[in-house]
Amino acid sequence: MPDRLVNATARTGSCSLVAGVTTGLVEETTRRQRLSPTVSAALGRLLSAAALLGVGLKGPERLTLQIVGSGPIGGLVAEAWLLDATTVGVRGYARHPRVDVPLNGRGKFDVGRAVGIGRLQVTRSYEIGQPYIGIVPLASGEIGEDIATYLRDSEQIPSVVALGVLVNNEGIAAAGGAIAQLLPGADEATIGELERAAGALVPVATQIAAGADAEAVARSLSGSLALKPFTTYDVRFACRCSRERVETALASLGRDELLKMSMEPETPEATCEFCQDRYYFSRDEVGAIVRRLERRQLG
Ligand code: ZN
Repeated sequence: MPDRLVNATARTGSCSLVAGVTTGLVEETTRRQRLSPTVSAALGRLLSAAALLGVGLKGPERLTLQIVGSGPIGGLVAEAWLLDATTVGVRGYARHPRVDVPLNGRGKFDVGRAVGIGRLQVTRSYEIGQPYIGIVPLASGEIGEDIATYLRDSEQIPSVVALGVLVNNEGIAAAGGAIAQLLPGADEATIGELERAAGALVPVATQIAAGADAEAVARSLSGSLALKPFTTYDVRFACRCSRERVETALASLGRDELLKMSMEPETPEATCEFCQDRYYFSRDEVGAIVRRLERRQLG
């Protein structure tokens, strides 16, 4: 099933739904960063959440989900932005990409234990003005529940959030998710139907592994609610790093630090933590950055 996101609102206007398949996104991130299975499950859920919430972005807006936790993973970051009007770009990384913890009592990845106790910070950056930042304590570290807590407590939107990653011996078998959000004035019938559907929900990754597409996943969470036509989005792994950005980061170290670097036998090399692309700088290139800094100081 190719990666795809869909969204729709109920015909009554009482709720909105976004759902999707993110198997390729999670697979590519896992491969680039050589994630352990437990970290694949944890980061895969956060990447899926960023993709789903990314559907609401406009123009150059950006959404960042950051988790800091006491567990062995240490922290997770996922970012989403629009690559074009109908394509969501997503990237993310884990602070400790290769840790593992034993399966939990139900034989599932113990994401809650690997993440631990901590907080979730959500940053919405706009084209102009200050970003909106919301922070909530982690509910369980299982990611889906934490995102639902954030939406309810920080954005005042009661939501049902289902996220899942299925890992087998070959790698990522399926990944995806669905989020249903109540809109202002939602009636009791809608709330009741969403609760019933959530209670009966087959785990989304299991649905996708069995062949469900984004629309089927959305309908599994909307139950018998009549929906308006779906809008479809593509989603894929993307990165925002560039040689220019790495150069800017190097320059920020300052003239003295760079001069010291240019004397050392090993010249600087930077690896992007999101895509793992490597950027090398020769002695001459470091020298050129130093001279540019010096000219700027003189000017
Ligand atoms: Zn990168």
